[in-house]
Amino acid sequence: MSVYQVSCPVRTALTMVEMHVLEGGGFEVEPALWCVLERGHGGLHHTPGQALPAGGGMPSVMVWLRWPDGDAFGPSRELLVLPHCPEQFLEGCDAAEACGLPEGHAGRHGWEFGPPVTSADLPPGWLL
Ligand SMILES: [Zn+2]
Ligand SMILES: [Zn+2]
Repeated sequence: MSVYQVSCPVRTALTMVEMHVLEGGGFEVEPALWCVLERGHGGLHHTPGQALPAGGGMPSVMVWLRWPDGDAFGPSRELLVLPHCPEQFLEGCDAAEACGLPEGHAGRHGWEFGPPVTSADLPPGWLL
């Protein structure tokens, strides 16, 4: 879930029903969430709504909220479990970084874009 803008400048608010459905997972449910895909992507906007822990032989899963541009609360709005994008940056290395987006997502992988880094994000002594 992203309570901060990642790249796509679109966010949505959870309905009371959605907040109720998402309660009790690994995340604190947040009422307003930013799409986590790359700015300018095609297709539906996506944001993770909740992580459900592994149990009963099932792996942990991510519940995503997705909605069409310009019709956030229309009939195409969905709350559903989506598999993780299998791509990894530096796969096999200690520093491997998962994409973090759902499989088949629009736009680039999660490690290829992100919020703009400014000097305020860096520890003292670092240069941009
Ligand atoms: Zn988006
Ligand atoms: Zn990806």
